[in-house]
Parts: sequence; structure tokens; C-alpha cells
Amino acid sequence: MVDHERLLTMLSRLQLTAIRDQLDNLLDEAGRQELTLRETLAFLCEREIARKDERRILMAMSIARFPKVATLEGFDFTSQPSIDERQVRELSASRWIAHGENLLLLGPPGVGKTHLAIALGREAIVCGYSALFVTAPALVAHLARAHSEGKLDEKLTHYAKPKVLIIDELGYLPFASDAAHLFFQLVSRRYERGSLCITSNRTVSEWDVVFGDTVTASAILDRLLHHSHVITVRGESYRLKEKRRAGIMVHQHADFTKTTKQS
Ligand code: ADP
Ligand code: MG
Repeated sequence: MVDHERLLTMLSRLQLTAIRDQLDNLLDEAGRQELTLRETLAFLCEREIARKDERRILMAMSIARFPKVATLEGFDFTSQPSIDERQVRELSASRWIAHGENLLLLGPPGVGKTHLAIALGREAIVCGYSALFVTAPALVAHLARAHSEGKLDEKLTHYAKPKVLIIDELGYLPFASDAAHLFFQLVSRRYERGSLCITSNRTVSEWDVVFGDTVTASAILDRLLHHSHVITVRGESYRLKEKRRAGIMVHQHADFTKTTKQS
């Protein structure tokens, strides 16, 4: 008979914590299902891997600093006909990240660009990639501060590390004079190494205005667009649309009470 405590100690030492914590239940379950030794071992491994994946995903999600929870399941494709659902589903398999390609999500405010960027970032993490979310103004501010403190290289390395870097809201604020060049250095550092996912309310042709410098803008675009996917979302703000729909429903309800009263 194997000493129970000794078994737990060995499982701890092997860091098989899911098996350790559920040992009796798992063995009972294996017995109930009349699993062979080999099947039992596979069953235990599956549980351990599931736990480790879960932990890894939770850890990676917290490192990614997503500003909120947004998932692909929670995205209503029917209300956004300008988005090709198949293209988004294809992107959710994260092959674009495996290949170091970029993704641009363009369109007016409120159409779901940030939602999609976060959702695809989550999918990337589930696929085993690292992700980091930052807004364009925060990114530029961090780079500018690091630059003035003589630590630019360190900061560039930090932002070059994640396999996919999501830069949200490029173009809402114009760049300060030397910010475009800092941004260019980041894009260069990541070029063909890691993916960028950028959301913007400006079309690509307006980016020289955003960067305030045509030459730098075209150097940035040259690298960004080389291997890239572009999703242009059209239409009006999802929230406004929802509000109006709620408004219409209230209206219909009022009409309904009126007609029932009349009858
Ligand atoms: P954008 O980044 O384009 O300005 P957001 O992604 O912030 O827009 O979307 C605004 C709000 O509307 C968010 O709360 C988002 O979750 C929600 N939203 C936008 N589009 C959709 C959609 N198609 N399905 C579900 N929620 C959506
Ligand atoms: Mg947004």
C-alpha cells in the first residue's frame, strides 16, 4: 500500500497540483469508469494540463492589462454588417500572430473596435501567445518619459516583448512633435518580430495628420501595412443604436397600451 502522504509529497514536488488536490476524487472517478491504468494516467494528465492552462491564461490576462472584459461570444455580428464575421473568426485562430502580421481596426467611435481588439487579444492568449494592451496616448507618454530619463531602450524592449501589442485609440489625439519618431522606433523594433493590433478612428490616409509628419507617417505605414489585415468598420455607434432600439421599444409599448385601451 502506497503511503498517502508520501504520494502527496511526490505530486507536490512534481508540481502536479491538480492531481494532488483532487487525488481521491480523481481515482474514485477512474475506478467508477473502470479505466485501465493507461487510461487513468491519461485522465490524470488531462486534469493537470487543464488546470495549468487555466492558470496560465489567468496570469497572461492580468499581464495583458485589458481595460475590461470583451469577448468574441459577446460581440453581436448581426448589428455590425460591415464586419466580415468569417474574417474575424479566422483571425481568432491567431495565425496572424504566429506569422507576426499586423491588424488595423478602423472606424468611427463606438462601433466595437476596442471590443474586437480585446476579444482577439484574449483569443491570442488562449492560443498561448502573450499580449499587452495600451492606449496610444499612454504609450507615447511612456516612451517620451523614458526618453527624457535616458531609458528609452528599456521601454522599447518592454513594448517589443509581447507577441501581440494592442495599441488602442490612435488618432483621437494628435502626436506631440517628437512622439511620431518614438512611435516609429517602436514599430521598427517590433517589425517582423511581433504583431501590432491598432485601433483608430482615422483612415490610414489621415495618419500623417495624426503623426504630424508625412515622412515619419509613411515610414510607419510602410512597416505596418507590409504584412497586415485591415478591418474597416462602418456604421453608427453600437450604444447609440442600442439606445434608439430601447427607445423604439418603449414607444411600441406605449402604442400597445393605447390600442388595448381603445379595444
Ligand atoms: P470603439 O472602440 O469602436 O469606439 P467600443 O469597442 O468601445 O467602440 O464599443 C463601445 C461599446 O459598445 C462597448 O461597450 C462595446 O462592448 C459595445 N459594442 C460595440 N459593438 C458591439 C457589438 N457589435 N456587439 C456587442 N457589443 C458591442
Ligand atoms: Mg475604442
